[in-house]
Order: sequence, then structure tokens, then C-alpha cells
Amino acid sequence: MIGEFFIPERILTGEGALERISDSLGRFGKKALLVTDRTVCRLPGFGRLTRLLSEEGIGYTVFSGITGEPDDAMIREGVRAYREGDCDFLIAMGGGSPIDAMKAIAVSVSSGRSICRFFGEDIRLPRPPMIAVPTTAGTGSEATRFTVITDTESRAKLLLKGRALLPDLAVVDPSLCSSVPPQITAYTGMDALTHAIEAYTSRLAQPLTDAVCLSAVRRSFRFLARAYEDGSDAEACGELAIAALEAGIAINNASVTLVHGMSRPLGALFHVPHGLSNAMLLPSCLRFALSGAEARFAELARVIGAAEREDRQSGAAEKLIGAVQSLCRRVRIPSPAEYGIDRGAYFAAIDRMTDEALRSGSPANTVRPVTGEEIAAIYRGLW
Ligand code: NAD
Repeated sequence: MIGEFFIPERILTGEGALERISDSLGRFGKKALLVTDRTVCRLPGFGRLTRLLSEEGIGYTVFSGITGEPDDAMIREGVRAYREGDCDFLIAMGGGSPIDAMKAIAVSVSSGRSICRFFGEDIRLPRPPMIAVPTTAGTGSEATRFTVITDTESRAKLLLKGRALLPDLAVVDPSLCSSVPPQITAYTGMDALTHAIEAYTSRLAQPLTDAVCLSAVRRSFRFLARAYEDGSDAEACGELAIAALEAGIAINNASVTLVHGMSRPLGALFHVPHGLSNAMLLPSCLRFALSGAEARFAELARVIGAAEREDRQSGAAEKLIGAVQSLCRRVRIPSPAEYGIDRGAYFAAIDRMTDEALRSGSPANTVRPVTGEEIAAIYRGLW
């Protein structure tokens, strides 16, 4: 199989990386649309960004209208802010939501088309320059050519793809994550872990993605619980930020599989945060995929120290699922019922969720072929 590997043109990592963007800001444009949310724009990191822009003589308009995981209505507002502000490039500071929103605003601005119309296309059009500055250690969106936007009309979470969505510069400065509350650390960290395991066991895995997957899985198992239990643990937060970036690079080039396919409809219909819906589904989807990739599951178990070299392959593979389950317990991942989802509404939605999961295309990347009946059975079993 021929592998093709995409990453942003430039990636800055490490504490204080944000300040390093000043050496190239002038090349991006004269006025930035800062895409963010109302929590992040009050954090000290946002002040650091606006100070840098002022020092470099770059103008900016703040658009803090990302009030949750982004939908097409928020994107329209962002496009209006970009045009009214006479901006010529974009910077997103925040979790995956503002970063995904920035990507959608950028392609809508240059195409004049509503973002949901791009569903199913390979988005390649020219668009204004983009800088992504994550403040959660999770989605890896700073390094992906994807954006996930909810269509308010159909209430479906659409996965949009294309090279135009890959930011030009990614700035992974872990000091920006120090204010993340434990519960969000747990959800976003489980998102990164899911990306790394899915990409490692995807049909599209390739040697370069394998390397970043193994590293991201190792880091996530070592540091997620530590960062969850003590948000001031700078080493753990720094390692998790790198794990999230590695995992983003991995899905960018090997894609996601069954977990993400099933997670998007669950998130869209029951307002479950993205990382949490992934975490809820991860053990059952791994159990399903196990027989298609036993050696790969066993390798992951050995990498995290859950299995020994001498363990038989099947036993080692099982140990990976056990380790994922205990990590979920340790960072207090609730079940759908504990999260407050109504049982009747959940069961009534299974056909629709199954349909949307299949239509997204992600389940087809799973090493073991999966049918609609099998997806529906996993949803039922999850309850
Ligand atoms: P998020 O961006 O929605 O943020 C979650 C919460 O954390 C928000 O309330 C936000 O204000 C708060 N927050 C963010 N940074 C903070 C900080 N430093 N301190 C305190 N609070 C902070 O959540 P997320 O999980 O990062 O992103 C989820 C979105 O990303 C979903 O829409 C998902 O579909 C998408 N996603 C995209 C990709 C991709 O490749 N494009 C991959 C995975 C997920």
C-alpha cells in the first residue's frame, strides 16, 4: 500500500511556544479573526495572544461565538465577523470546537457556500491562512484535515474532509491547558487515546502513523490519570499535549474507525461531549474489532506494560481492553445512563444512529468488516 503523509507546514511545541509565532505573524496577514469561546477568551493565554498581535502591529477581531461543539449557524456568524472585520487570516484558540469552527469559517469565506454543502467532497479550494492554538489536550484538530460541524436542520454531526482544512501553523503550548477542569481533561484525553488506538488498528494504518500511534498510546496511559488527578502537574499536561498532537497526526493519515463513526450520532442526538461519547464506546468497539487485529492489540498492551512479551497473543490483546476499562474507571467515565440519557429515547434512536454511523464512512476503516446489525447490537449492548 502506498502511504501519503500530511502534517501542518509548521508545528511549534513546548511551554512558551505561543510567543514564538511572533517571528512569522506578519507573513500570515494584516488582520486576524480570532476564533474562540467565552471561557477561553477570558484565560491568561488569550491575553498573551492579543498582546503578541499588538506588539507585531497585527490587527484583530475577536469572534467568541463558539458556544459548544460548532454548528452551521455559528459558522455563518463567524463568516459575518470575518467580513465585517475586514480580516485576511484566522487564528483559533481553544479546544477542538473553536479550531474546527475556524476551518469551516475559512473555507466558507473563500467559497461563499454554506459549510454543510461540502459534505462528501474533498475540500481543496484556496482559503485564507490559518493558525491553530489548542487549549485542550485532546482532538488533535490542529494537525488534521477534518472539521466536524453539526447541521442544525438534520441535527447530524458531519465529518468534512480535505487538504484545505489543514492549518498552516499548529502551536501546541501545554501551558495553555493548565486551567482545564479535571472532567474535561478526562474526556479530551480519552479522545486522544481513542484516535491513537483507532489509527493503529485502522485499515489505512501505515508505518509513519504506527510510530506516532504507539508513542501517543504510551503517553496517554502514563499521563492521563496523573493530569486528571492533578491539573497542576506540568509534566503530565505537557506529555498529554504531545500525545494529542501525535494522535491527531495519526488520524490525519490513517483515519478513524468504528468508534468515531458510532460516537458522532450519539454526541449529536444526546449532547454528549465528543471525547466522552468516544470513551463510552471504546471498550465495546475494541472488543468487536479484536479478532481482526489481535496482533496489533497485543502490541499495544505490551507497549503500555499491561502484557508481557511471553503472554500469548490473544491473552495480551484482551489485556488491552482491560487496561482501557480501568483507565475509564479511574478518570470516571460515566455510562450513557449515568450521564442522564433517557433509556427510551436511546433505544428509539438506535436505527437512526446506526444509519448515520454507516453513512459517515468511518466504520469501513475498521479492520474487521462491520454491518448495520452489528453496529445496532453494539449500541444496544452499551446500555
Ligand atoms: P471543546 O473545544 O468543545 O471545549 C470543551 C470545554 O472546555 C469548553 O467549555 C471550553 O470552553 C473549555 N476549555 C477549553 N480550553 C480550556 C482551558 N484551557 N481551560 C478551561 N476550559 C477550557 O472540546 P474539545 O473536546 O477540545 O473539542 C471537541 C470538538 O472537536 C468536537 O466538536 C469534535 O467533534 C471535534 N473534533 C475534531 C477533530 C478534527 O480532527 N477536526 C478531531 C476530534 C474531535
